[in-house]
Amino acid sequence: SSPNAYGYPLLIKHLLTRSNIASACQEIVSGADMRLSYADLGKRICQLANALKASGICEGMRVGVMDWDTHRYLECFFAVPMMGATLFTINVRLSPAQILYTINHGKSDLIIVHRDFIPIIDDIKSGFSRDIVIVPIGDGDGYEEWIGEAPTSFDFPDFDENQTATLFYTTGTTGSPKGVSYSHRQLVLHTLGLLAGFGGRPGNAGFHRGDVYMPLTPLFHVHGWGFPYAATLLGLRQVYPGRYAPDIILQLIAQEGVTFSHCVPTVLSMVLDHPDCSQIDLSCWKVIIGGAALPRGLLDRTAAAGISLHAAYGMSETCPFLTVADLSSNDPDVQSQTGFPGPLVDLRVVTPDMKDVPHDGETTGEVVVRAPWLTQGYLDNLQASNELWAGGYLHTGDVGYIREDGSLQITDRLKDVIKTGGEWISSLALENIASSCSGIEEVAAIGLPHEKWGERPVLVARLLKDADLDLVRMSVMEAIQSSVDAGELSKWAVPDDIIFVPRLPKTSVGKLDKKLVRQEVSTRADL
Ligand code: ADP
Repeated sequence: SSPNAYGYPLLIKHLLTRSNIASACQEIVSGADMRLSYADLGKRICQLANALKASGICEGMRVGVMDWDTHRYLECFFAVPMMGATLFTINVRLSPAQILYTINHGKSDLIIVHRDFIPIIDDIKSGFSRDIVIVPIGDGDGYEEWIGEAPTSFDFPDFDENQTATLFYTTGTTGSPKGVSYSHRQLVLHTLGLLAGFGGRPGNAGFHRGDVYMPLTPLFHVHGWGFPYAATLLGLRQVYPGRYAPDIILQLIAQEGVTFSHCVPTVLSMVLDHPDCSQIDLSCWKVIIGGAALPRGLLDRTAAAGISLHAAYGMSETCPFLTVADLSSNDPDVQSQTGFPGPLVDLRVVTPDMKDVPHDGETTGEVVVRAPWLTQGYLDNLQASNELWAGGYLHTGDVGYIREDGSLQITDRLKDVIKTGGEWISSLALENIASSCSGIEEVAAIGLPHEKWGERPVLVARLLKDADLDLVRMSVMEAIQSSVDAGELSKWAVPDDIIFVPRLPKTSVGKLDKKLVRQEVSTRADL
């Protein structure tokens, strides 16, 4: 289809149209010493586009990025798609072999590589299947020289809003990583969807004009969940933390007055565990937890520090926004709910033959969705794309139920459900109970193969420093038993064992890797 001549194509460049003027003097902070205004950002985006053009990049080409979360990455978020090229956000935490696989599969033409990742490139470049221009950059040098001499204006063209803007790979916890891409139109609509879904009314824990934004989800992971685009559209003061180090994160929150962040549970735990944490006032900090369920134990820990925490739900294939908990509530039971579908999100919970389950707050099924910003399929993988979209809805692979009020609760992933003697046990329900017992730092509930029952539930946990193992074991078992007595859990859900380990394996984006937990526990290797 051709661009609409008298319409207004939904292009990423328009996310800047307003803030470039209305927020020209607003500040973007990156690490300890870089500060720029939105006016500077606008100029630097043009300079970056000119530098890319001089390096041979034009419409339709793919530009990879391997960098920490900096202003440079934000500039790439805009400049690359605005030129009509595709921004390929490379997951730097995958193994070198997987990074090589994604670079070849994603057909990169040029990759901007931070000095810290050059050793990986040196390691794998003999395996590149095409010529790739590598642009090495550093924190103060390299990048600045590269774009510094380039002109500060660039005529970003109009083109079809359905043109691909971004590409990245799923984290590949099962099989090879799969390529997922989004168009300009999808990202613009997703940005508006985020603002409508997370904005709500002033005073709630949402995302508002007065916020100071700092991402704590790596920008390579589903474009930092799309919030950098939304923050820029709002013209917010933004803070980019560089490489994630808890002391620097805490320092930035205090010095720059950060009020809004988002992350997976592990990253927040890492910040809370840091000794400086108790000296810093975090009572103005709102954090959205996504990528995994919000564990009750984490909520209780943050409430003590005055942090406001709410859950949201999505996945790589959904851009990612699907649902968010009621942001006006400070009731822990509501804050940790998977939440209400965002605007324009058509979300159903269905049986295997695609019939809706009743919205009774207990009947579970698979979550399937439609929305204007879901990926159309996996890059060059027709079979997986067809499975993803079977029956005209995107299959999330997540199990959940819908309450009478329309809110969603994810109870498990299809592949993590514990199936014991014909009963399905929610691993998340067990984890939730265990995580709120004092002394538990992290916990995974997994099903281990069992001759008679098929599978039996087992908890694998890491203790907080100085916790007493026997006391913790006793309090977890008591808590689970009282849920059984209260009729909230079936008696089959009582775990056969609690295994304490010094470390729980994580995926490349810091989520518990239950597949690895199962493997390591069943081979009883040292975790
Ligand atoms: P991966 O599948 O490798 O973890 P994603 O980042 O795409 O990569 O993860 C999406 C998945 O994370 C969802 O399908 C779901 O299982 C889980 N998830 C995300 N948000 C939540 C949430 N609020 N509650 C429970 N599970 C969640």
